[in-house]
Amino acid sequence: MENRIRYYSTNRNLEGIDGIIPFKGYVSFRDALLQGQAPDEGLYVPETVPSLLYEDIFSLKGKPYVEAAMLVAGAFLGGEIEEKLLKIIIEDSYPFPVPLENVYDRKYVMRLDQGPTASFKDFAARMMARLMSYFRPRGKRLNVLVATSGDTGSAVGEAFKGVEGIDVNILYPAEEVSGRQKKQLDTIGENVQALSVKGKFDDCQNLVKEAFSDSSLEYLNFTSANSINFGRILPQMVYYVYAYSQLCEKGEEIVICVPSGNFGNALGCDYARRMGLPVKRLIMPTNENDEFPGFLKSGQYEKVSPSRACLSNAMNVGHPSNLARFFELYGGTVDRTGRVHRSPDLDEMRRRIFSVSISDAMTKNCIRKAYDTYGLILEPHGAVGWRGLEIYLEREGDFPLCVSLETAHPAKFPDEIIELLNIAPDVPESMRGLEARKGEPIELTGDYGEFREYLEDTLQTEE
Ligand SMILES: *Cc1c(COP(=O)(O)O)cnc(C)c1O
Repeated sequence: MENRIRYYSTNRNLEGIDGIIPFKGYVSFRDALLQGQAPDEGLYVPETVPSLLYEDIFSLKGKPYVEAAMLVAGAFLGGEIEEKLLKIIIEDSYPFPVPLENVYDRKYVMRLDQGPTASFKDFAARMMARLMSYFRPRGKRLNVLVATSGDTGSAVGEAFKGVEGIDVNILYPAEEVSGRQKKQLDTIGENVQALSVKGKFDDCQNLVKEAFSDSSLEYLNFTSANSINFGRILPQMVYYVYAYSQLCEKGEEIVICVPSGNFGNALGCDYARRMGLPVKRLIMPTNENDEFPGFLKSGQYEKVSPSRACLSNAMNVGHPSNLARFFELYGGTVDRTGRVHRSPDLDEMRRRIFSVSISDAMTKNCIRKAYDTYGLILEPHGAVGWRGLEIYLEREGDFPLCVSLETAHPAKFPDEIIELLNIAPDVPESMRGLEARKGEPIELTGDYGEFREYLEDTLQTEE
């Protein structure tokens, strides 16, 4: 009991800043998971980071992914959940492979695209869903509401599909999703219902926000599965430990490269290093949304607003939500508007992190060149990563063991791949058979009263 890790809010020191009443308390992992966000709208961070023994990391060599997940998650959740049950959760979360593709020498691409929606977000969302199911109040059903402009919604929906005691409603803007995305969202099935809203993404988000703050709906046990939930960060520490253990020679360091948008994925790597993973440098390339590389260079943080629309569209972020956690880890504070209240230790940050902005032209070039040179097939996000790693190696000299992440499957970007490489990427199992899937959305006008009525009439609260 005493050695359970406590979580606090990144806003706890923001005394007297417009409208924020800092939350100065601590919560358990369970509360951080079920609340999603701190009451002061800060992000929950662990008070201490557990250490792994190097021997334990090294002994994962040749072992399956779930063993790495047990080691990392077990360190964070010791005392919170029985080992046997954690194992069931983890095995159920990761029934797919995690390929490490050799590119040249000891340079690798780790493909995190073998899950049900062919994006790395499956890793976090699937484990979070199962942890929420485990930690939900006894006898109660939880109701997840999520607004999506496309891909996040299907990752969350697929992750919760069939998970006990939780129902999911996904709101999407009728006019703004592609035909393919609509089909994906409408046909998930089981405990996951799509709601097609007449309007824009903002309208969907507003409906969700209004429902969350409607005290007369409190009895519906709402929870959000958004990307700032610490329950999504924890699973994102695992694959770094896994990759290292599979590839390392005893005692050596590794360079890891993570194409970044909201910085949750890269944050997992920083935590893994703090747990004891020998990470020489964390490379965090961004697309043309260059607020972070700019900050590392100048020490002045300026968010990009509005964010720039790039090919790697899941990284079009002008002010990364997890920057607050990064600043906190390096002794600084930034709020969600992008205002810096205390600068982090820049020297330390620069020692640990390298960041560079990759333009769309560079991204395309990289997709072409990686294929021509190595036969490596990358989609735009992975190409931002790979080019970022190349630039790092050009500037700082070669480093033996490097892993760059591919965060989505190339088949999700057929137009770009065909245009640039003249080949059609293989379509993975998970993306096949979409046409044959059945399911209809519920159509909403965007009026809150109507939405509220739908929620009251259909959602269940007891098992
Ligand atoms: C979300 C996403 C990213 C960015 O990850 P962050 O954790 O937000 O930095 C990169 N690539 C793909 C394909 C994504 O979906």
